[in-house]
Amino acid sequence: MKNRVSLIVVLLLQAILVNAQFDEWFYNKTLRMDYQHSGTAKTEVFSFQEWIEEPFWGGSQVNLIDTFGYGQYQLQVLDKSTNKLLYSRGFSTLFSEWQTTAEAGKINRSFPEAVVMPYPKKDAVVIILSRNKKGVFEESFKQEFSPSDYFIRKELKRKATAFDIEVHGDASNKVDIVIIPEGYTSEQMDLFKSDCSRFAEEFFKFSPYKEYRESFNLRGVLVPSEESGTDIPKEGIWRNTAVNSRFYTFDLDRYVMTHDFQSVRDAAANAPYDQIYILVNTERYGGGAIYNFYSMSVNSNPYAGKIFIHELGHGFAGLADEYYTSAVAYNDFYQMDVEPWEPNITTLVDFDAKWKHLLPQGQAIPTIPTKENQDQMGVFEGGGYSAKGVYRPRQDCLMHTFKGSTFCGACDEAIVKMIMFYSK
Ligand SMILES: [Zn+2]
Repeated sequence: MKNRVSLIVVLLLQAILVNAQFDEWFYNKTLRMDYQHSGTAKTEVFSFQEWIEEPFWGGSQVNLIDTFGYGQYQLQVLDKSTNKLLYSRGFSTLFSEWQTTAEAGKINRSFPEAVVMPYPKKDAVVIILSRNKKGVFEESFKQEFSPSDYFIRKELKRKATAFDIEVHGDASNKVDIVIIPEGYTSEQMDLFKSDCSRFAEEFFKFSPYKEYRESFNLRGVLVPSEESGTDIPKEGIWRNTAVNSRFYTFDLDRYVMTHDFQSVRDAAANAPYDQIYILVNTERYGGGAIYNFYSMSVNSNPYAGKIFIHELGHGFAGLADEYYTSAVAYNDFYQMDVEPWEPNITTLVDFDAKWKHLLPQGQAIPTIPTKENQDQMGVFEGGGYSAKGVYRPRQDCLMHTFKGSTFCGACDEAIVKMIMFYSK
């Protein structure tokens, strides 16, 4: 009994200490930095636009420093007077995907982007690191922030009502997903609400999410669009919608995304969030997602549930696509002499850092796909849009096809680790 009491005291003290650390450096609200990210296949420029104060901080107040090392970029917040690292987070962007398309070899293009961080109490330095060709982070942008700057925008650009879909506790120790309606008119807000409930039920049917249901909060934001649906440029269909999404991103029919990330953040700012999910009101097959950027999928296609789960795998857990036969717009998305940062594919440059500990004893590397090892963990060639040189952990997985309904062991482990990180 005495031991249990002292354990509780220790845990309480730890919690107070950790919160004291957060409280020493940050207010419990969000600082957002809007910028333009532009360049070509080989160059990039970050151009500062503005600081915005937003009312909620949905992130952990304990795990402030990134421990995963995922993403094409890393955001860092440093205390200006001591250079102490206060906050960091990995992320990827639509711009970095675009850099691997043929168009990026010909023109210079600009993408509006925004990063968020807990709101610093003191003068800070905000840094963005980009991966170089070797996969190593290098500083590519630096901007000083002062809380006394009176140009920090304090109004929300898109004020809207948020509602609870399923809430299990305080935003600081849950994975908070905010769902944004895209292509739902004001008359269709009830449809959006019922779609949210339907997707929540669907979401928690899949492992490992169903085992961690209590670690999630799901909220929706009532942001109506002027018109229903979304853009389908190749068919001449254009719709005036909340976050300006479209099919045919990078001229790929099923790739529905938006270049207008700042509008996405504008809508999301009405609720505390760790992850943004955009639900598009269309029957057409499609989706897309980028790590710690946003995930997007359609509401009424027969595969909608599995697309939702697949896309959140990218957006939330940094998972790579394990498929390699579908047409994509990318050239050399992965370099064969660099170990990709995603946890569920490998080029064998540094396989020890991946799912080696999940292989059955004596499993051959690489593993020849047979009927016998159909459901076993292995190292199967083909993955990450490449039939050669990139390997995946299991013959099939929700990050590969929608034939089955389970994630492979590597994906499952990566998702669970991420849930633990955000729910502390
Ligand atoms: Zn997998």
